[in-house]
Amino acid sequence: MSEVVLAGVVKRYGSVTALAGVDLTIGSGLLTAVLGPSGCGKTTLLRCLAGFERLDAGEIRIDGVPVAGNGRHLPSHRRRIAVVPQEGALFPHLSVAANVGYGLDRAARRSDRVEEVLTLVGLAGYGDRMPHQLSGGQQQRVAVARALAPRPSVVLLDEPFSALDAGLRAGLRHDVREALRADGATGVLVTHDQGEALSVADEVVVLRAGRVVQAGTPTTVYREPADEWVAGFVGEAVLLAAVAEDGAARTVLGTVPLTGAAPSGPVTVLVRPEQVRLTPGAGTVTATVLRHDFHGHDALVGLRLADGTRLTARILDGGPTAPVGAVVSVRVDGAARAFPAIGTPTPTPAQV
Ligand code: ADP
Ligand code: MG
Repeated sequence: MSEVVLAGVVKRYGSVTALAGVDLTIGSGLLTAVLGPSGCGKTTLLRCLAGFERLDAGEIRIDGVPVAGNGRHLPSHRRRIAVVPQEGALFPHLSVAANVGYGLDRAARRSDRVEEVLTLVGLAGYGDRMPHQLSGGQQQRVAVARALAPRPSVVLLDEPFSALDAGLRAGLRHDVREALRADGATGVLVTHDQGEALSVADEVVVLRAGRVVQAGTPTTVYREPADEWVAGFVGEAVLLAAVAEDGAARTVLGTVPLTGAAPSGPVTVLVRPEQVRLTPGAGTVTATVLRHDFHGHDALVGLRLADGTRLTARILDGGPTAPVGAVVSVRVDGAARAFPAIGTPTPTPAQV
């Protein structure tokens, strides 16, 4: 268990600035997800933490001890950090037990540590198998067990589930979180998948173009995103131009109460699709149903208001809905977050 602090970390590759001044505290014993689009610097961040890259500026401290920066560069093997790569990390010619025991000294290999970490990842009794006798998901479990075996204080996981299919991924990430917790390791999970970050992490760090744009709990980044870009990146967002006054905003969907320290004047209001309620038939605010995206547990219903505004409602399976082409009345349930308007709201995929 260790706290990791990054202060002003800069990393350049030639003319590309991959990390442009990262300030971040990774809480001891927690699982922190680093979430951001492809190319935003996630892998570079992990490589700097692991000691595979030298910093161009800034500092990294583990439990208060500087390990990188200001001319210092503690080599990888002395940082007590383990890395679980994306895929294909196992030695194909070694058994599961030999893979897991690879980084251990002889005494530890002979102890029951190998079986202990295999049990943690749900693979008790699999030690004698060869990697090719395992499914993709089981191979990633072995990779996690191998990372945990030498009792690192920090485990870095770089999109470790991205090659697996969706159903398998959900179960695996839950088990991996439990294994890290049971072993007391601090975890850093890199992902571009917002659902993965929100569902599994204690803390979410949103990275954009080499900078941290927000760090907080999954609930905070979803409900109180730092800006419109974060709002659209961590979930479906309906962004409405509005005018705010006294903690409420006048929008095309009526007056909506605002959360937090609400700005006044021209704003962009963030409404999540699950806040959009619809009732069959015309009403104060009338919309036409454009499409249905069925997801089993819920459906996203695309709507168009009379003035052309497009928005999305999330309807739980069995909830009130209407067929494509039908006229419905729409209202917003609950409070919304507003950002000071900086030009016109950016359309998001939720608003097609
Ligand atoms: P992510 O993991 O978020 O997709 P990366 O950390 O791999 O992003 O990359 C961040 C930026 O740095 C990208 O623009 C990428 O092209 C660049 N980059 C990464 N590694 C190198 C490298 N070894 N040489 C040059 N540019 C690199
Ligand atoms: Mg990457």
